[in-house]
Order: sequence, then structure tokens, then C-alpha cells
Amino acid sequence: MHANLIGGAWTDGVRTYQNTNPSDTRDVIGDYAVASREQALEAVAAAHAAFPAWSLSTPQQRFDILDAVGNEIIARKAELGDLLAREEGKTLPEAIGEVGRAAAIFKFFAGEALRPGGELIPSVRPGVGIEITREPLGTIGIITPWNFPIAIPAWKIAPALAYGNCVVFKPAEVVPGSAWALADILHRAGLPAGVFNLVMGRGSDVGAVLLEDERIAGVSFTGSVGTGQRVAAACVPRGAKVQLEMGGKNPFVVLDDADLNVAVGAAINSGFFSTGQRCTASSRLIVTEGIHDRFVAAMVEKMKTLKVDDARKAGTDIGPVVDDRQLAQDLEYIGIGQQEGAKLAYGGEALEKNADGAPGYYLRPALFTETTPGMRINREEIFGPVVSVLRAKNYEEALALANDTPFGLASGIATTSLKHATHFKRHAQAGMVMVNLPTAGVDYHVPFGGRKSSSYGPREQGRYAAEFYTTVKTAYTQA
Ligand code: NAP
Repeated sequence: MHANLIGGAWTDGVRTYQNTNPSDTRDVIGDYAVASREQALEAVAAAHAAFPAWSLSTPQQRFDILDAVGNEIIARKAELGDLLAREEGKTLPEAIGEVGRAAAIFKFFAGEALRPGGELIPSVRPGVGIEITREPLGTIGIITPWNFPIAIPAWKIAPALAYGNCVVFKPAEVVPGSAWALADILHRAGLPAGVFNLVMGRGSDVGAVLLEDERIAGVSFTGSVGTGQRVAAACVPRGAKVQLEMGGKNPFVVLDDADLNVAVGAAINSGFFSTGQRCTASSRLIVTEGIHDRFVAAMVEKMKTLKVDDARKAGTDIGPVVDDRQLAQDLEYIGIGQQEGAKLAYGGEALEKNADGAPGYYLRPALFTETTPGMRINREEIFGPVVSVLRAKNYEEALALANDTPFGLASGIATTSLKHATHFKRHAQAGMVMVNLPTAGVDYHVPFGGRKSSSYGPREQGRYAAEFYTTVKTAYTQA
């Protein structure tokens, strides 16, 4: 049984539940504890009590622990990748890549713990010196989604600890295995009791405690817009800091002058890899008239070659959808697209079994053409391997369509025109812009986040993470 980690002790919950493998639903992965609200409160109390000492820990202490965590994750990359693929359904190479990214994030923030912060600024008054320093916030509530079960927790937990905060972590209920493995590594790396706590269970129950408790100084959340709004509504009025990373409906523009192979490669990668379950997935392909038919034909040809199968099997391009709920949502949107009059150019059927006859949540990736901007499949996040193509007369119309969305996470373009690439980088209304690259591939050491309803609060990742996990103090001294 995998228990919660509260105040440095593995603690049984009020009940247990099992996670299963979406590639083969007969495969039970493990038993996990569900914490009660009272246990979540105990975790908050433990973190709160541990904070004064941890906030004064030396940068070297924090470096040593975070660096050791990174090293252990690297050493166990294959095993952790296998677990991740087994519980979430991304392919093994993708899962191992995600684990490698989590290790790199811990190593990066180990280094950040040593970076000298602060500034000395001369005052406008004679004889007065001003020091600007950054201090940790306190106890941070970390709430994560299921689609990156180790990388997203890593990019929140590592900076929180590096800057001297304590953490109460609530992972997504569907993927407790990767979260538990990470908690175990953190626990064994020598963190003092209470500095890092894991509470598993339902968001509306255990997660809600983290939003309401006055001792939680900040909540870093990644998930859907609806839940993000609830996080903000609970935290902002009580003065807790919030960082929200939410959904996307990311456009990828393909111009007449694009290299067709580059455009198709980026669109396939961003739309369908990781089963389309990435907040940065390109779900709207906006294609100008001159290349439209060639691009659609090449997409369909490529899609026919994609192997949908067990996530851990060699040669699989697309694993299963994460669970039955997500599969039902994807299929519902495929139905909505057809009712709205879009043409299903390829895919969209659920496959009850994989090539070996194992039951799973498989969906052949779907491409809609002849869509219009107002269709629900073009406005709402589906979060599966379902992509639509929109026609545009020219670059100007394509840019307008790209920006015509309530979301603003990532935006991409395929073009060989420097002029259009430069213009797009300036005018795309998104936090991240890609030229001739998939919208879904981001580095771990630079800011991550979006605009409009995709994000709220300071950026994640890289040195920008300090904006959320620290608070600035300005001290004046008369010499
Ligand atoms: P979700 O349903 O919003 O859940 C996210 C997390 O919030 C889960 O741990 C969930 O717990 C918890 N939660 C639910 N209700 C809560 C409440 N009332 N109080 C506190 N916590 C609560 O999202 P998801 O389905 O896991 O993830 C998919 C979404 O994440 C998509 O919209 C995707 O775009 C977004 N996402 C965004 C980014 C980004 O960086 N922008 C990255 C990845 C994913 P349970 O386990 O109980 O559900």
C-alpha cells in the first residue's frame, strides 16, 4: 500500500483505491491511500511548523537535497518512465523523456538555490542604503493534473523547496503512482520532517483544504479552467498568492510558403503525440488556401501510419487516452463536430482492444476539415487526439483566427517567410510562440505560461519561478 506522507511519516488514509493501466484495464498498478480532510489539515500544520527552520536552511543544504533528488530520478529513469507510461498512457519514449525532464528541473533548481539574490540600491536620501531581498512565501499548496504526472509536480516542488518554502502536494487522483514515487525520493533525500508532504485523494475534498487554510500562503495549480477559477475564488480574497496554469486551444498556422514536411511533422507531433493530452497541443490548424489541400492530404497519409497501441510496446506512436471519462469526452466532441457540419477526414473511432487483444481506452486520432471558427470543436478544449483544420485566405486572416480564442497558451506557425515569422512572434496573443516547431515542445529552463484564460499569476519554470515562490522585501538602513 502506498501511504500519504505527513510530517515526515508514511500515514495510511481513510480508505484506499487502485489505479489501473489505460493500455490494459485488467492491469492493476497499486493501492493508494486517500487522505481525509483532517489528514490534509495535519499536513498543512506539519508544513507550517517546519517552515521557520527550513526557510533559514543554507543554500548548500537545499542544493544537496535537490541535486540528490535529480540524480536519483536520472538513475531510475527507465523504471519511473515505465510506471508513468503504465498509469498515464503516454508512450514509453515520451514517458522516459518526461522523467528526464523532471530530473533536469531538480538539478536546475538545485543550482538556483545557490544563486545570489537581491540588490543593493543607493537611496535618494544621503547616508541611506537600500537592500532588496527575496524571502520564501511560507507553505505552498501544490495541485497538479494527470497529464504530466512527474514533470509538472517537479516544476512546482523543486522551485518551492529551492527558495525555502514548505510544500503540501496533492496530485491528480488518476495518476498517484508517479507522484508517490517522487514523494518517496524527496523523503529519502533528507528533507526535514514536514518540509514536504503528500496527500492523495479527490481534489474537491483534500485539494479544497489547501485553498481554504490560512496557513497556506500560496497555491500553484495546473489543471482545467473551471477548477482554476475555483482556486482563484478561494485564495485571492484571503490574500494567498496564486499561480494558475490552465487549458489551451492552441493554433498552428500553416502558410502557403511553409515547408510541407516541417508543417505536417509539427502538426502531427503537437496534435496527436501524448494522445493529444497536452495543454500546449495544437488543436486548431489554420491553413492558407494555397497549401490547404496538399497539407490535409499529407496529414491524412501520415495519420494512417500512426500506430495506436499499448503505451509500453515498442513502435507505438499513440497510447491510450488516460481513462474512460476522458475517452467519453473525446467521443462526445467528435459527435459534436459531426453534428456541427465538420467533415471527419480521418479517425475518431474508439478501439476497444489493442493489437494484442487487451482492453483499453484507445482512440484513433481524429482530423476534422471544413470547420468554421464558431464551432464548439474550435472553441472548447477537448484534451484528446482531436484536431480541426480551418481555412484562411491569407496570413492576415490566419493570424486573426489564431488569436480568436479565449485561450492564450501557445501559438505556432510554419512559414519560410522571415517577415511573417517576425510579425507572428510579435502579434500572436500567447505566452509561448513557435516558428517551424511543434507548439507542444518546451524547454525546462525558460518561462512557461500563457495569457487570457490559459494562465493567471507569475510564470512557471526557469528563473522566473522566483516571482511566485518568493516575496520581495525592501530594507532601508541609515549608515
Ligand atoms: P482538473 O480536473 O482541473 O484537475 C486538476 C487538479 O485539481 C487535480 O489534482 C484535481 O483533483 C484538482 N481539483 C479538482 N477540483 C478541485 C477543487 N475543488 N479544489 C482543489 N483541487 C481540485 O484538470 P485535469 O483534468 O487533471 O487536467 C487537464 C487540464 O489541465 C486541461 O485543461 C489542461 O489543459 C490543463 N493543463 C494545463 C497545463 C498548463 O501548464 N497550462 C499543463 C497541463 C495540463 P482530482 O484528482 O480529484 O481530479
